[in-house]
Amino acid sequence: MVGMLRTLVAMLFCGIAFAVQPPVLIIALDGFRWDFAEREHTINLLDLKRGGASVETLVPSFPSTTFPNFHSMATGMEPSHHDLVAMMFHDREKRRSFSYMKNSSEGEWYGGTPFWLLAEASGIKTATYFWPGTDANIQGKSPTYFKKYDGRVTNEERIAQVLAWFRLPESERPGLVVVYFSDVDSAGHKTGPDSAETRAAIQKVDAAVGELVKGVRKIRKDTNILVLSDHGQIAVASRLDLSARANFTGCLAANEAPMTMLYCDEPERVRAELLKSSPEVEVWRRAETPEYLHYRDNPRIGDLIVVPKTPSIVFIVPPGDADAQPVPDLKGMHGYDPRRYRAMAGILIGSGPAFRRGAVTPAAKTIDVFALVCRLMGLSMPPGVDAEIRRVAPLLK
Ligand SMILES: [Zn+2]
Repeated sequence: MVGMLRTLVAMLFCGIAFAVQPPVLIIALDGFRWDFAEREHTINLLDLKRGGASVETLVPSFPSTTFPNFHSMATGMEPSHHDLVAMMFHDREKRRSFSYMKNSSEGEWYGGTPFWLLAEASGIKTATYFWPGTDANIQGKSPTYFKKYDGRVTNEERIAQVLAWFRLPESERPGLVVVYFSDVDSAGHKTGPDSAETRAAIQKVDAAVGELVKGVRKIRKDTNILVLSDHGQIAVASRLDLSARANFTGCLAANEAPMTMLYCDEPERVRAELLKSSPEVEVWRRAETPEYLHYRDNPRIGDLIVVPKTPSIVFIVPPGDADAQPVPDLKGMHGYDPRRYRAMAGILIGSGPAFRRGAVTPAAKTIDVFALVCRLMGLSMPPGVDAEIRRVAPLLK
């Protein structure tokens, strides 16, 4: 009788043990282009790639900018479906404009259900250090542990906190930890993707990755680690102020950089004027953006989308639009059509017991990160997402 009971308890215990997934650590490197690790011979990232699985390019959604793509990775949805359609946009219904600088901590702007909320709903604690949207109280909920964004926090502090989370007693320990570093993106914007500063930033985040991997593996050897980025970076060809190229009275502009979205009383007149005066740009109607960009069916997308034909920055400051600002002179930029510019692609590396050692697959999309995280966490994907497991499945055992 006692023996049977023991077997039952053992079976029960094993059942629970099998149901619990190894912890997952996601290291997000803003603006880390697909070829930077090889170009700069980064010790830790290349080591991680060799011992794990990777995609050659992680292709961002359009626009290939930070908030839309981080939220695509978080929700598995294209920006037009998760509502964070750009870094800057106007919402006619709300009669308000969104700017990532002012409104990023307001959950009401974010659609879709990010993976940290799915994990929390299934009883897994999550901890996040600065992934965009993690401090926004989306759907009125937050990760168990999270930080309000403050770019001044050093990488050392972020690393120390991640390791402290992994060391928590089991009942408090998160099963999913996310940490974000922006050094490469910032350096790329200021000085261009090929500068000494950007090269130094690549080494700096590589060192952070090395410390995290070593530290976390010491505490939990079986941790599945993902290193990923939202987009790449390209050298800026020119900066185009189009404010005097048409009569923009009755327009609001969202100067996303590189593109500008216009919300106008008379979009057709403005479009005709711009097409005549500005051969440097394409002027898309919302309903006529290239189909493969999946960038049509959301009213937050401008009536007109002004896109440079070269890797340039365009901006428009309409008369009376207090929110529209000129875009600063930047040396590096992203946001362009990822099909036209391979330099827009980022990285995705997986290492740990879930991954096939040495597996390399040519391309996945940022939306697919969601499918991968769900698989690693044992979560089922909700219906209606755009993510597909098939592009990332070859990375997994
Ligand atoms: Zn950037």
